Amino acid sequence: MARPLIELKGIGKSYGKLRVIDGIDLDIPRHSVVSLIGASGSGKSTLLRCLNGLEDIQQGQIRFDGEVISGLGIDHVALRRRIGMVFQSYNLFPHMSVLDNCIVAPVTTHSCSRTEAEARALTMLERVGMRDKAKAFPDQLSGGQQQRVAIARTMIMQPEALLLDEITSALDPELVMEVLDLVRDLAMQGMTMLLTTHEMNFAREISDKVCFLHAGRILEEGPPEQVFGSPREAATRSFLRRVT
Ligand code: ADP
Ligand code: MG
Repeated sequence: MARPLIELKGIGKSYGKLRVIDGIDLDIPRHSVVSLIGASGSGKSTLLRCLNGLEDIQQGQIRFDGEVISGLGIDHVALRRRIGMVFQSYNLFPHMSVLDNCIVAPVTTHSCSRTEAEARALTMLERVGMRDKAKAFPDQLSGGQQQRVAIARTMIMQPEALLLDEITSALDPELVMEVLDLVRDLAMQGMTMLLTTHEMNFAREISDKVCFLHAGRILEEGPPEQVFGSPREAATRSFLRRVT
């Protein structure tokens, strides 16, 4: 069997005395979509943040394409180029145009020339349906449009995997679909993704695997039909009753 793109082994993390991630093992095969579901505070965001080095871990090991990416001596700038992350708040720079927001990372990290960055940015903006807004500023866009730009900005770095943390939670309900449609396109194009979402129908539809987090552990995992359709654990059933 092919080696998973991302391998988490025995991950543990605490904030002071609070154990937030309590022994997580998880494999994410290349080209697969894995969703993390679970109550607020169960550790979903922390786990994603550990994966691209925004937080360090105290136990365990993370491998990306076979290479250890946790612990000391990791080049986090290089890592974040390989593992892109999109957040609930789009975090676009308000004083920069859409196009400039998209090229700031490749240009400042010297990963390509400005001309090439602009060409790539326009191609990516086209893909997310935002090319005609390249000159606009973030406050002239809807939340859904800003989030599509944020995704394009991440994709410009040509990441090998994407981490998506509640990327539709701040959006008005009528704008959620345009962002989810884009995530669905990326999945169909084979992007490897680890995501957290409140949109259970979406998680059910898009995921190859769903993990239910409870108090920093994966209490239950499996194909979406199983986790949503016939959850084994009482805590999973109770969570799903509350959110669906
Ligand atoms: P989720 O994304 O599932 O809602 P989080 O990963 O954000 O959960 O949080 C898990 C737990 O870690 C919560 O109890 C939260 O309060 C705590 N936590 C998250 N970040 C910090 C931090 N920087 N310092 C202290 N505690 C934190
Ligand atoms: Mg969270």
